[in-house]
Order: sequence, then structure tokens, then C-alpha cells
Amino acid sequence: MTATLDNPTATASAPTFDSLNPANGDVVGTYPIASKADVDAAVARSREAAAWWGALSFAEREDFLLTWRSVITRRIAQLAQVSHLETGKPHGDAQLEIIMAIDHIAWAAKHAKKILGPQKVKSGLLMANQASTVEYKPLGVVGVIGPWNYPVFTPCGSIAYALAAGNTVVFKPSEYTPGVGQWLADTFTEVVGGRPVLQVVTGLGETGNALCTAAVDKLAFTGSGATGKKVMAACATNLTPVIIEAGGKDSMIVDQDADIEKAAEAALWGGMSNAGQTCIGTERVYVHEKVFDSFVAEITNQAKDLKAGAGEKIGPITMPSQIGIIKSHIDDAIAKGATVVTGGADAVGERFVQPTILTNVPENSTEITEETFGPTLAINPVKSMDEAIELTNATKYGLAGAVFAKKNGVDIARRVRSGMTSVNSVVAFAGVPALPFGGVGESGFGRIHGPDGLKEFTYAKAITRQRMKPLMMLTSFARDAKTDGNVAKLITVMHGGKKTLK
Ligand code: NAD
Repeated sequence: MTATLDNPTATASAPTFDSLNPANGDVVGTYPIASKADVDAAVARSREAAAWWGALSFAEREDFLLTWRSVITRRIAQLAQVSHLETGKPHGDAQLEIIMAIDHIAWAAKHAKKILGPQKVKSGLLMANQASTVEYKPLGVVGVIGPWNYPVFTPCGSIAYALAAGNTVVFKPSEYTPGVGQWLADTFTEVVGGRPVLQVVTGLGETGNALCTAAVDKLAFTGSGATGKKVMAACATNLTPVIIEAGGKDSMIVDQDADIEKAAEAALWGGMSNAGQTCIGTERVYVHEKVFDSFVAEITNQAKDLKAGAGEKIGPITMPSQIGIIKSHIDDAIAKGATVVTGGADAVGERFVQPTILTNVPENSTEITEETFGPTLAINPVKSMDEAIELTNATKYGLAGAVFAKKNGVDIARRVRSGMTSVNSVVAFAGVPALPFGGVGESGFGRIHGPDGLKEFTYAKAITRQRMKPLMMLTSFARDAKTDGNVAKLITVMHGGKKTLK
């Protein structure tokens, strides 16, 4: 008997679970549920491999990572197919996600040396006799726990940057997308001649928990905030540092001078693509009241042919338990007085949810306050951009967002309390490898991508080398009163007279 997600312990000796196609329930693959002992063994193998991988030069690691990047690129259709089957997302969407991941892998590989290698820093006047350098050393073994919604792009934001920084990785993919995780690890293992530099442990939450309490040097988690809290608590037992990339309730703000057609197009895609199962997707839209009616008319028109279904632009809801949450948010909004423009309560089927646009959604409804993670948009009018920013920021989350405006776009973006904002586009920041990715508040902390993302998987190592005798010997019991006087005079010249109390 094969175990499923609902019945994971069916066979006592070697439990397995099935990965199912959310569009039709077909079994896509069967995977082992890694036990605590399996996870510990994987981490031990990873530790050994880290001695080899961490000792390679940046150029050698770059070479391996760029080879992996090319292998993924050449086999992109194969990986997209696995992702399509496991998540239900259209093949083209699966491909787009992989394309972005490929670009990130290349960037991390090519920039690791410049960002993490030894760099000279000024020693300052007091320490002028010292030559100072800082470099960023790998932590050792990094555990990565991933979600199912972007099963390639999201974990690769941690995996590629951790590997480029010289760490080995043990990856626990979501139980909904184990095949994608296995594919990534298998291809990387091919590239490094079979060495366990990137390993996969498949399983459910318990396997993830085992990784949190294993002897890893850092844990990079992407998933829901609720699980993030459990991950932090588990990691606390060994004082293992964590990165938490959790959910969001991102808004798009549309000013009165915005290009309404483009803003509507972006909001529709930002809210409905990947069936709305995007952490940085658009969930709320605040539109200046002067252009509210034209915005709603435009997005309604653009949405009229958009459908969810097999072969349609919108795929199924990957995680069956999310369907009930999506329905409850729509129902709550309608019960509290929201207007249904498209979709609505009947939009929620057994596997698919039709695009749902609601306007004038009360700010206290769950459609506004909680992450819906479905193809819904709540569009509300605002009197001013101040109000739009205030409402946008009145959330426990703080992941990302978008602004559409001609004149004040960047100013508005700066005032949004979130880790990332795109002006006059959606999610553009995620495609720029040099930019950090991550949130504030209940959206989590820590950064993947960019220089911050590389440094996240390292520790800073400071080295000073004495290059000449100090003018005043301060770190010695031979220091006398005259030296104390001289150093007091020097510090007064350097810092004493610059500012006075008013
Ligand atoms: P989830 O929290 O249910 O699961 C995420 C991962 O955690 C899975 O691999 C799961 O097996 C594992 N897990 C479950 N219980 C665990 C435990 N007790 N200890 C350790 N690991 C455990 O999330 P999900 O449904 O897979 O993903 C959707 C969520 O992820 C959404 O909230 C979405 O916004 C968020 N997300 C965030 C980002 C980001 O970068 N901020 C990116 C993608 C998705």
C-alpha cells in the first residue's frame, strides 16, 4: 500500500508518499519519507562534502555552478514538465520560473568572489599601522526548506547563493513538489561527479522538522508564516540561525496619473497568474478615486476571457486545503458588503478557482487582512496616495508590492513598508539578480538574492595584519601616563570639537 499525503505512514519499514497532479489527482511519483536518522545521515554526508566544496576556489565553484546552469537550460522542457505535473501550472509559466532561476544561479556564481572574497578596508588613524581585510567564509552545511508554489525559483534563491558562497546544501522540497527537488539535486550531483554537495530529503513536515534540528549551520525556510514560527522554534534548540521567507498581502497602488491600461494588465497578471499562488502576487489594489471607475472598467474588460481550467492560462489550486481558505475570504468579503465584479462565491470549484475581482472590500475582511493565495483581487478606491500608503502598510505582512504612477512612483514606493516594490510593473525586482529579496514583519527576515543573499550564507571574517610599529603602543602593560595623555589629545583632535551640545 502506498502512503499519500493524508496517510503518510502506510508502510512501516520504508514509508513513502505520493506526489499528485492537482489538475486531476493522478499520481506523478512516489517518494520516501526521510526519517530523522535519514536526515542526520544526509547532513553528515553534506558535512564531508563541505570540506571539499568549501576548499575549492571561487573560480572552481563558479565553473561547476555555470555548468549546472547550462544543464538546466538545455533540459528546461524536462524540468518544466515535472513542475507542470506537480503544481498544475501551465508549462509556459513553469518555464518562466526556471528561466529566472537560471539567471540567478549564473549571477551568484559569477559574483561570489567579488562580494565574498578578501577586501581591504581602511584601518583609520588610531590603527594606521594595521592592514585590514574582511572576507566572507562559508558556514558549512545549509538546510533549505522550500514551498511548492515556485518549486524551482524559490529554493534556488537559497540553494544557488549558499552553494556559490561555498556551503553544501540539504534541501527538503515541499511534499507537493518532491520531483522538482529531486530533479535539481540529481542534475547538480551529475555536475559534481556524484559528490553529495546538493542533496534532497523528501517528506512532510516532520522531515522538515528533522532538518531544523539536525547539525546544519543555517536553515533557509520559505513557506507560510505559521510553519516559519515552528521552524524558528525548532532551530532555537541548537541556536541554528534562520532565514524566514514567508507570505504576503501585497498591494498595487494606482495614482491618478498612471497608465490605466498598463496598470490593469499588471494587476490582473499580478493577482491571477499561477492561480494567485504567488507570495509576491498582487492581492489588494488601491486606486485613486479619480481613476477608480476607469480602472475597474479596464480590468473587467481585460479579465473577461481569462479562465481557470485544464489547458487554460490559470491552472488548478495546487494544495487542496487552500481551496477552503480562498472560498472563506471571498465569502467574508461579500458578507461584509464587497461588490462582485467577476467570479465570486461560485467561482470556487473542486480543483480550480475562477478569477474573482471584488471592489469596495471592507478593510476588516479576511480578503484584505490575510494571505488568500488564490486568483482573487480586492480593488478599493482611495482619496489620496497618503491613504493608499496608509492602507497598504496597515498589514502584519511586508513582503513586496507595486506602484503605478507617472510622477511620484518612486516616492510612493519608498514609503511602502515592504522589502521590494516595482514601479510601473509587477514583480520585476525578482528578476533582477543583483537585488535583495525578502520581507519585513510577518513576511519574514533575512535576504536571498544579490550581494545580501550571498552574505546571508557566510560569516564575516575580519583580519588585521600589523605592517609597522604603532606610533603609540596602546595594547601593552608598558603603556605609560605620557601615552595615555597623548592618545587623549589625539582623540580630542579627531572627535572632540566637531559637535557641541545646543
Ligand atoms: P508551508 O509552510 O505549508 O510549507 C513549506 C515547507 O515547510 C514545506 O516543505 C513543508 O513540508 C515544510 N514544513 C511543514 N511543517 C514543517 C515543520 N514543522 N518544520 C519544518 N518544515 C515544515 O508553505 P507552502 O504551503 O508550501 O507555501 C506557501 C507559502 O509560502 C505561502 O504563504 C507563500 O506566501 C510562501 N512563500 C513565500 C515566499 C517568499 O519568498 N517570501 C516564496 C514562495 C512562497
